[in-house]
Amino acid sequence: MNKPHLHTCSLPTCGTIIPDHCLMCRVHWRLVPYANRVEVRKAWEKYQSRELSITDLREVQARATAAVMACGRNATSESRRSKGGA
Ligand SMILES: [Zn+2]
Repeated sequence: MNKPHLHTCSLPTCGTIIPDHCLMCRVHWRLVPYANRVEVRKAWEKYQSRELSITDLREVQARATAAVMACGRNATSESRRSKGGA
């Protein structure tokens, strides 16, 4: 059992495989508001040192995921590129 832990990006629509310590793929991580990123990083560190429960960690991660999904709705590649649609 020395396989690295891998999972998919936390965005339901994204199937990118990423290492366990990452919450999302790079593309989506860049869309996370700075405050959420800091929060996620801190929560992960606390979880690693057992100061935080998995439930609390998941909650912080879910907030970051929700933030990306919220901005994804207004900024899909389609609607953003085609200007002038009404
Ligand atoms: Zn992704």
